[in-house]
This record gives sequence, structure tokens and C-alpha cells, in this order.
Amino acid sequence: GKIPLTLLGLGAMGTALARTWLTAGHPLTVWNRTAARCEPLAAEGAMVAADPAEAVAASGPVVLCLLDDDSVDEALAGVDPAGKDLVNLTTSTPGQARARAAWARERGARFLDGGIMAVPPMIGVPEAGGYVFYSGDRAVFDAHRDVLSVPAATTYVGPDPGFAALHDVALLSAMNGMLAGVAHAFALIRDEDIPPKDFAPLLAGWLAAMSASVHRTADQIQSGDYAKDVVSNLAMQVAGAPTLLRTAEEQGVSTELLTPYVALLERRLADGHGAEDTTGVIDLLAR
Ligand code: NDP
Repeated sequence: GKIPLTLLGLGAMGTALARTWLTAGHPLTVWNRTAARCEPLAAEGAMVAADPAEAVAASGPVVLCLLDDDSVDEALAGVDPAGKDLVNLTTSTPGQARARAAWARERGARFLDGGIMAVPPMIGVPEAGGYVFYSGDRAVFDAHRDVLSVPAATTYVGPDPGFAALHDVALLSAMNGMLAGVAHAFALIRDEDIPPKDFAPLLAGWLAAMSASVHRTADQIQSGDYAKDVVSNLAMQVAGAPTLLRTAEEQGVSTELLTPYVALLERRLADGHGAEDTTGVIDLLAR
């Protein structure tokens, strides 16, 4: 038989996770603060726990997928997790994940943190490319790898329980910058006779092609040589910035998303790094 497990949290993500385990034949115990959300899953074969303590006491690993770290605090208040393996897929900060690991250790539980790099429709759809970062107790990861691989692929990033969250948030932060750029680009063309649907593939293709630069950036950080293999040096980029800013003004578009990055490039140039790549911006940010 398939190993049993418990899931706390049946929001959009938790429900998607739960369905994959039920479909794969794993006995699943669920708990959700709003009990009504358990009903569809109960109809699909899940056992419903009356409270978090009952859910945690059921056999197998305990997966949490709640809104945020405060919800985990609330759900686990007064619960004794001794002897259990806790896997927290709630998005948190590295510090919150480390504190949760210490909390579990003090109570005799083993702990693995996870960061989900997928949206609910990608869960249980391997070809969608979603996966989950895991970090913390390697033995917990190894013990439950098969069951954890049911909803999405797994990527273990180290014994530091904060590393899954750190990887997760680093990727999300980069996505934030990308989405800011996408917003600016569409704002530039919106009031022109350029169909957004014609523009979109050009934008997507350009972002995909430019994303390869992260490998050069990594190489420059590791070698410490920010001029290594430089393609578009900082002096050129700063010289080009007024064209970006002036185009925004011509199109009646705010420059507020562009200016913070341009300001960093200008500071780095003023420090005498014009022949380097833009990698030195990292030195300005990472104080
Ligand atoms: P939802 O808002 O759909 O669900 C939130 C869940 O948290 C519900 O089960 C809710 O219970 C529960 N909850 C909220 N506050 C409390 C509390 N104080 N005590 C107990 N339970 C509480 O969120 P998602 O399911 O989408 O997200 C869950 C986690 O997954 C988050 O950490 C999110 O960052 C992460 N994630 C989500 C992604 C997404 O695209 N949805 C993508 C990647 C990660 P109730 O039903 O009672 O309100």
C-alpha cells in the first residue's frame, strides 16, 4: 500500500496538492480552518481531522500549506509534534523557516522546509515544469521523497532549513523585476496601433534570449572579474539610459519603474567601473 500522510491547509494550493495524493492512492488526512473546504476532498476519499492536533497525530509525514508563517503559528499552537516529520510548504522567509526548524527540534520533531515554484494548475502536471525547493533535514527528504514527488518535482538545496525559502524568494524577486519590466513595456505601446497580441511573442522571445545572461553574471561573481566576457559594458548601458527615459516621457509613461535601476548603474559608473558588466550593481545592493 501507499504510505499515508497528513495535509494541513486546503486553500488553492493545498487542495491541488491533496488531489494528487488521493489520485495516486495515498491515504490522506486533511485539516482546514474552514471545515467546509474539506468536504470535496472527503468525497474523494480523504479523512477529515477535527483539529490540527488530530491531524498531526495521524500516521505518516505532516505537510503544511497555509497562508503564511503566522497561520502556521496559529494552526500549531498547543500541538505536540513529538516524533513526527513536518514538511512546511507554506511560503516563508529564510529566518521564519530556521525558527520553525528550531521550534520542531525543541519538540522532538524532524523538519523539512519547502518553497513551491508552481501555481496550482501546474501541480500534478509534470510537463508544466513546476517543482518544489526543499531544505533542512536530509533524512526527512530522503524518507519521504517518493510521496513528496507526487505533486511536483523536488529539488533539495541543502541542510540549512532557510535555503528553500531563500531560493524561492530569490526567484520570486527576480520575477518581480521581470514583471515590472513587462508592465513598462506594455505601457509604452498601449496607446499606439500595436496589437498587444502581436507584441507579446516579441517580448517573450526577447526576455527568454536575455535570461541567458544570468550565467555570465554567475561566472563574473565567482571569478570576481566583472569585465570578463562583457558584452554591453556599464558605460554603454548608462549612455543608453536617457533613451529609455526619454522614450517613456515621449509616450507619456511614468519612469518610476526604470529610474531606481538606472540610478544604481549611474552610481557604479561614477565609482569608475564603466568597462565592467552590470554585475557590480550586486555589490551596491548586498551591503
Ligand atoms: P489560499 O489563500 O488559497 O489558502 C490559504 C490557506 O491558509 C487556507 O487553507 C486558509 O484556511 C489557511 N489559513 C489562513 N490563515 C490561517 C490561520 N490563521 N490559521 C489556519 N489556517 C489559515 O492560499 P494558497 O493555498 O494559494 O497558498 C498556500 C501557500 O502556498 C502560501 O504560503 C502560498 O504562498 C504558497 N504558494 C501558493 C501559490 C499559488 O499560486 N497559489 C504558488 C506558490 C506557493 P481557510 O480556508 O480557513 O481560510
